[in-house]
Amino acid sequence: MTFEEFLKKNNQPSFRLKQLNLALYKQYIEDWSEFTTWSKELREKIAQEFDFNTLKVINHQKSKKGDTEKVLFSRTKNKQLLETVIMKHKDGRNTVCVSCMVGCPVGCTFCATGTMGFISNLTSEEIAEQVLFFARKLKKEDKKVSNIVFMGMGEPLLNLDNVLESIEIFTNPEKMGMSPSRITISTSGIVKPLEKLLENDFKGRLAISLHAPTQELRESIMPIAKNNSLSELMTVVDKIIDNNNKRISFEYVLLKNINDKQRHAEKLVKLVKGKLIHLNLIPYNPVPGFTLQTSDRNQIDRFSAVLSRARVPHTVRVSMGKDIDAACGQLATKKTK
Ligand code: SAH
Ligand code: SF4
Repeated sequence: MTFEEFLKKNNQPSFRLKQLNLALYKQYIEDWSEFTTWSKELREKIAQEFDFNTLKVINHQKSKKGDTEKVLFSRTKNKQLLETVIMKHKDGRNTVCVSCMVGCPVGCTFCATGTMGFISNLTSEEIAEQVLFFARKLKKEDKKVSNIVFMGMGEPLLNLDNVLESIEIFTNPEKMGMSPSRITISTSGIVKPLEKLLENDFKGRLAISLHAPTQELRESIMPIAKNNSLSELMTVVDKIIDNNNKRISFEYVLLKNINDKQRHAEKLVKLVKGKLIHLNLIPYNPVPGFTLQTSDRNQIDRFSAVLSRARVPHTVRVSMGKDIDAACGQLATKKTK
């Protein structure tokens, strides 16, 4: 049942929905009992229909510097585990990195989540709750969630309906009212749903996990690339840039001796030069049990220098929260196993 259906069933006027949205998504109430705008009777009715929390906190870790926190949640409905991270940047941004699945079917060779396989899609409420959890905490310090990135567990474009519904909660002016430009979907590059986003004029930001400059190498790192070729991917990326006139990000995880050589950088330049993009170089975060290694600092610098000479806008991502395994996209699966 939706909130709308609940109100209809109980013969409530439409302004009740506005009150509900205000309490949940602007005042960030922490329990139905705090929702005193409604009569006790109606409050009790809604509490019977809807669990206030779709997620339960199992563990909450903070980095030594205090700039990163990671929460392990269990789903109220079936106890499956997922993780969410917040990064509190020095410039004041508070970025929540949400999961959209338990596990992931894509199986990229370097990714811890990929080893779990697909377990389940999260609902829009469960995705939104990860953000609400931190929004409630920040409110007590007079702060806000400023950015949301879909870079936790799972592939957002394979759970697109729930992801878009959660984004509706984040951006609807009557709900959280965030600007769509503050929300980033990161994807391994699945072409069909990217075309759908283009058709639907998606207003958020996109980050495409590229990780290799050629089809052959990309396929060897990311199995999904077999059916979603680099050329098809670049074609849809070009269309999206044309349509939105907004910069798209590419993510490129640097894997020692695999995709981090000068020749890879040169091919990468050819692939992206002249496009309205920003390239994020991500030093690989080693996953226990994997033989893959992080590129040496010198190699990263040489790679970056090739891009600089060709004037390709790029940054080397600084990893936050390493001491609590909170690197986005490498959310620990230890407890899940
Ligand atoms: N499934 C989506 C979003 C989640 S992963 C995607 O793949 O884009 C978010 C980012 O973290 C991706 O760019 C992913 O390639 C990267 N990532 C995954 N494992 C990593 C690791 N061990 N070290 C560094 N980055 C990693
Ligand atoms: Fe899935 Fe992204 Fe990990 Fe690939 S990198 S397995 S798409 S979560």
